[in-house]
Amino acid sequence: MRSTGRLHLGNYVGALDNWVRMQDHYDCFFEVADWHALTTDYADTSRVKENSLEVALDWLAAGLDPERSVIFIQSHVPAHAELHLLFSMITLQSADILIYKADVVPVGEDQVAHVELTREIARRFNGFYCRAKDIFPEPQSLLTPAPKLPGTDGRKMSKSYGNTIMLTDPEPVVRQKLKTMVTDPARVRRSDPGNPDVCPVGDLHKIFSDRSTLDKVYEGCRSARIGCIECKSWAADALVRLLVPMQARRKKYEDNPRLGWDILEAGSERARQAAGETMNEVREAMGMSLGYEAPTNK
Ligand code: SF4
Repeated sequence: MRSTGRLHLGNYVGALDNWVRMQDHYDCFFEVADWHALTTDYADTSRVKENSLEVALDWLAAGLDPERSVIFIQSHVPAHAELHLLFSMITLQSADILIYKADVVPVGEDQVAHVELTREIARRFNGFYCRAKDIFPEPQSLLTPAPKLPGTDGRKMSKSYGNTIMLTDPEPVVRQKLKTMVTDPARVRRSDPGNPDVCPVGDLHKIFSDRSTLDKVYEGCRSARIGCIECKSWAADALVRLLVPMQARRKKYEDNPRLGWDILEAGSERARQAAGETMNEVREAMGMSLGYEAPTNK
């Protein structure tokens, strides 16, 4: 039940009376839904806490029995928020950004709208609840250059297309995948000139090869002085140079997965600390801090 204050007869007949009898047949969880109450009380949260208690007192008066049933406040069970977040993950990442008070968020073009929405949420929250000092900074998008990376079939690299080169692929696998990679279709025969700008292997060279290799690729492809097999082997060289040191670093953790978990656990502890501090400020600002404080007649 939303925590909207003292209950009336309609609440009793419509719900509460039933709940009292349900206790004889079920293990019941009765929730004072104080977060839910914010859907209407968001602009003024000064009475939410008191209203939660008023609802609970009417419940106890009507016969809800804390010995037999679990009677609790929604916001005091943070798992509700966690599950809500997981359910909303598909479209909304604002909590992930704001809980650490991020100033900038590195995103690609397609994520800019999410950050804009996050800024709007930060602005609204600060406007409603923060009189002295804003809690949330308005995060800015930090547009990161993301070169288009083709997969082995020339489409965007994606697991769902089965056209990936994995960071963990061993050298022979990388070379084999490169061998079967599509090229500029204009180069049907070895003597046909091609164009690296319309060839997926050319795209790989642009991202991973050094300047002098790239010059050789452009010159050799356009004049048909190099073949695609040779060109692909240079691209594979560049990928192997990148991947081998990564795979060596990874091996330390593969051999001892505990090391990886220790890093994640220590990091999560630090994140909990930072997130906890933010949430204390948030609850305080909204008048929803944990524990009971007698209302003062301000
Ligand atoms: S030579 Fe290289 S860039 Fe040119 S078509 Fe063949 S693989 Fe592509």
